[in-house]
Amino acid sequence: MMKFTVSNYNIKCATASWQLLQKRFNTTTVSTSLQITNNALTLPAAKQQSKHFTVQTKTRTLGKSQGRVVILGSGWAGFRLIRELDKKNYDVSVVSPRNHFVFTPLLASTSVGTLEFRCITEPVRTYSKETNFYQAFCDKIDVKNQVIHCTSNIDADPTKKEEFTLDYDKLVIAVGAYTKTFGIPGVKEYACFLKEVNDARKIRKRLIDCFEYASQPGISDKEKEDRLHFVVVGGGPTGVEFSAELYDFISDDLSRLYPDLMKKTRMTLYDVAPTILGAFDSHLSDYASKKFSRKGIQIKTQRIVDRVEKDHLVIKDEGKVPYGLLVWSTGLTQNPLVESFTSAAKDKSGQRILTDGQLRVIEKESNAPYPNIYALGDCATILDNDLPATAQVASQKAGFLIKNLNAIAKKGYEIPDGKEFKYKNNGIMAYIGSYEALVDMSAWHNWAKMSGHLSWLLWRSAYISKSVSIRNKMLIAYHWFLTFTLGRDISRF
Ligand SMILES: Cc1cc2nc3c(=O)[nH]c(=O)nc-3n(C[C@H](O)[C@H](O)[C@H](O)COP(=O)(O)OP(=O)(O)OC[C@H]3O[C@@H](n4cnc5c(N)ncnc54)[C@H](O)[C@@H]3O)c2cc1C
Repeated sequence: MMKFTVSNYNIKCATASWQLLQKRFNTTTVSTSLQITNNALTLPAAKQQSKHFTVQTKTRTLGKSQGRVVILGSGWAGFRLIRELDKKNYDVSVVSPRNHFVFTPLLASTSVGTLEFRCITEPVRTYSKETNFYQAFCDKIDVKNQVIHCTSNIDADPTKKEEFTLDYDKLVIAVGAYTKTFGIPGVKEYACFLKEVNDARKIRKRLIDCFEYASQPGISDKEKEDRLHFVVVGGGPTGVEFSAELYDFISDDLSRLYPDLMKKTRMTLYDVAPTILGAFDSHLSDYASKKFSRKGIQIKTQRIVDRVEKDHLVIKDEGKVPYGLLVWSTGLTQNPLVESFTSAAKDKSGQRILTDGQLRVIEKESNAPYPNIYALGDCATILDNDLPATAQVASQKAGFLIKNLNAIAKKGYEIPDGKEFKYKNNGIMAYIGSYEALVDMSAWHNWAKMSGHLSWLLWRSAYISKSVSIRNKMLIAYHWFLTFTLGRDISRF
C-alpha cells in the first residue's frame, strides 16, 4: 500500500490547508499513487474561500515511465480506458462528475422498473484501484501549460464546490454530449431527459405520481385524462425504446393495479421527421410504426414543438396538448467543455471536436493534431469519417486508443501515422415492446434484418453479454425473471 505524503509546503495557512487536504482525501493512508509534491499545494489567501488548490500527480518517481494520463469522463469511452489502460506504465487519473459508468442501452428499462437502477451501473473505483479518481467537472483545458481546471461535484454538500487543477502529460477527452433542446422554451424546466440514472429515477417517480394523483377523490375525468397522457418527443431508438417499456409497464402491471384508469390512459410519440427510427431499414421502422399503432400508441410525425409549459406543450398547427409526463429525446448537443475548448477544431455543426484518424485533437489554427490530446465518443468525430454517436463507436474508439497507448508504453514507439481507426459496424437494435425487437445488421449482409420475438431474444442476449460485470449480468437476469413472473415494483419514494 502506497503512503500518501505531504512535505514542505510553503503556504501561510498550513493548518487550514492540511484540514482541507485531509477532508478531501479523507485519510493519510489511502491506497493511491497520488502525491502532493513540494510547493504544489499553494493556497493564496484570496483563493482560500473558494477552496482552490492544485494537485500534481506523481509520475516518474513512481516508476511510471510514460507520465500522467488524465481521462475526462466515465462513460462508454472513458470507462473502457479506465479498465484497460496500462497502469504499470501510465499514471492514470480520472475526472468525472459521476462516480460510475451507466450501461445506457438498458436505461429505459430502469425508468419503468423492468430492471433496477443498480443493474446498469458500475462504480469507477471498483475498476481503478491503481488510478486516482476525482468526482468533478473539468471546466477548462489549458493546453499551453498542460493543466486542466476542475470543480468538484459532490452531492452531499452542493454549496462547497472545490476548484482544483490537475497536470497532464496526455489528456483523453471523453465527456459525451448533452440532450438537444433546440432552445425551445420550457423544455429544460419541465421535460424529463433520459441520459443518466437520476433521469430514469425521476421518470419512474413521475409516472407513479400521475397514477396516484388520478386515483385521488374529487379529480375530474378531464383532469385524469390530462394527467394520464404520456408524451415522448423524439422518434429515435431512445424515444421508441422508452415508449415500448412504458407500454409494457402500463399493459402488464398498471392495468392490473389501476384498472379503472386504463380507459383514460394514452401515449403519444412526436417527431419532426416523416418517420420514426430513421436509422433503421425502412421495412423495420414501418414494422415498429404498425406495432405501435396497434397498441394504441399514437405516432405523430412532422410535428414541431413550439413551447413547453408545466402541464402542457404547444405543438405547431395542433395547439395545446396536456401531459402528465413528457420525455424529451431529440438528439445531442455539445458538452460545455467542448464549447470552451476554443483552440480545437470542430465539425461542420460546431458541436463535436475534430480529430485525426488516430483520435488526436486537431488544433484549429495550425490544422495539425496535438500530439498528446485525444478525443473520442459522442463529443468528437474524425475528420472526413463522421460516425454515429453510439456506444458502439465510443467503445471501439476507446479500444483503438488503448491498443495504441499500451503499445507506446510497452514497446516505446509511436504508432505509425498510417494506422488509423476503422469502425466495424455490428448492427443496431431496438426494443419495441411486448417481447419484440428490431435487429438491423444490413451493414454485414443485405438480408440480415429481422423483427419479432426472435430479435427480442437476440436483443436481450446481446445486452446481457455486453453488460460489464458478472454481478450485473446476474442482477439483470434476476430482475428480468422477477419482472416476468411477479411484475414490476410500483413503490413511490
Ligand atoms: C437511453 C440511451 C440508450 C442508448 N442505447 C444505445 C444502444 O443501444 N446502442 C448504442 O450503441 N448506443 C446507445 N446509446 C448511445 C450511447 O450511450 C452513447 O453514444 C455513449 O454513451 C457515448 O459514450 P461517451 O463515452 O462518449 O459518453 P457518455 O457515455 O455519455 O459519458 C460521458 C462521461 O463524461 C462525463 N462528463 C460530462 N461532462 C464532463 C466534464 N465537464 N468533465 C469530466 N467529465 C464529464 C459524464 O458524467 C460521463 O461520465 C444510448 C444512449 C442513451 C441515452
